[in-house]
Amino acid sequence: MVGAGPIGVELGIAFERLGVSNVLLEAGQLGQTIWQWPPNTRFFSSPERIAIAGIPIPNLDQTKITGEAYLAYLRSVVEQFDLSFRPYERVERIERRGRSFQLFTRTLSGERTYACRYVVLATGGMASPRLLNVPGEDLPHVSHYVPDPHKYFRTHLLIVGGRNSAVEAALRCWRVGAKVTISYRRAEFNPQIVKPHLFAEVGMLIREGLITFLPERTPVEITPAHVVMAPTRDGAPIDGPPIRQPADFVLVCSGFVADMTLFEMAGVELRGERRIPAWNPDTMETNVPGLYVAGTAAGGTQQRFEFFIETCHTHVDKIVAAITGRSAGLTGPGGWRRYSIPRENAES
Ligand SMILES: Cc1cc2nc3c(=O)[nH]c(=O)nc-3n(C[C@H](O)[C@H](O)[C@H](O)COP(=O)(O)OP(=O)(O)OC[C@H]3O[C@@H](n4cnc5c(N)ncnc54)[C@H](O)[C@@H]3O)c2cc1C
Repeated sequence: MVGAGPIGVELGIAFERLGVSNVLLEAGQLGQTIWQWPPNTRFFSSPERIAIAGIPIPNLDQTKITGEAYLAYLRSVVEQFDLSFRPYERVERIERRGRSFQLFTRTLSGERTYACRYVVLATGGMASPRLLNVPGEDLPHVSHYVPDPHKYFRTHLLIVGGRNSAVEAALRCWRVGAKVTISYRRAEFNPQIVKPHLFAEVGMLIREGLITFLPERTPVEITPAHVVMAPTRDGAPIDGPPIRQPADFVLVCSGFVADMTLFEMAGVELRGERRIPAWNPDTMETNVPGLYVAGTAAGGTQQRFEFFIETCHTHVDKIVAAITGRSAGLTGPGGWRRYSIPRENAES
């Protein structure tokens, strides 16, 4: 398996329970995507829906858990099952050799090669930030990842974006005493996209003049002192005079893009701008026999999130069934994860 996000780990546990030899290779550290979230961010999903392999998440206060708590949980399940997990080992190349594959990896200290019959790519959909591609985007006061909001206390912060991550960052940074302006290329936030509690709160603070909203604007240049913002209509740039928005710091929350290079190398057909891999919905096998996709990578670069942890558990069941002919036994009624190992699996 390539990628030790929640779904890669869940696959590792499922194969381990069935006694299938496997290895879990990870370019970064366990749960790397979640590790990159803003500190102390809580999941939108409830704990029972993001629990993996039927193992309950310890939860002291019955609320949504933080990314940090989830990473502690992932570490504990990797230890519990003693998974063959290899952090900081990036798969750089995949080659097909007849009915099997060769994987070439880079570790912290060198290179390795693996030969295997099956490969599962669980490489996620958030490999790198979606860049604005404007001059000055690489200046040191510009960030595409939300840091600890404390960084922005008593500074002028411009947040670019209008989805959950931008709105949540605006609220948290305002709460630590930053002077927050949020710019969006559309006229207003979309309540179909922004979570109801965030939507209501940011709307109230904007109406009270505590957070400044710059609708229908997009950055065209960033300088150390200000951001040049061009007008937009329906999200697209239009002719018109630009404005200069002063900013000490700029936070670009414009989403992330998937890296589908490994799929491409292996000969997987990638469809459309989002580069969605071709896969069989019954088995998760791609158009390359023996090569499977699991987790959010199945959606390529997602616009509207269809693939997230709770909708991807079934990938694990399908892949395990397709490769071993046996059931991982993880899904209970309504698609929820079971909280116990079925007896027949526990004994096998
Ligand atoms: C602020 C925020 C809040 C979110 N809240 C939720 C939520 O409430 N619920 C939810 O379900 N989702 C949420 N998400 C999305 C969540 O992060 C993903 O759904 C989840 O991480 C997907 O799991 P995955 O296993 O499919 O992929 P990932 O967790 O993305 O794991 C993929 C792994 O593959 C590794 N990898 C990639 N390429 C290689 C390579 N070449 N070699 C080796 N390893 C490689 C990566 O380093 C990464 O660790 C949120 C995201 C953000 C940013």
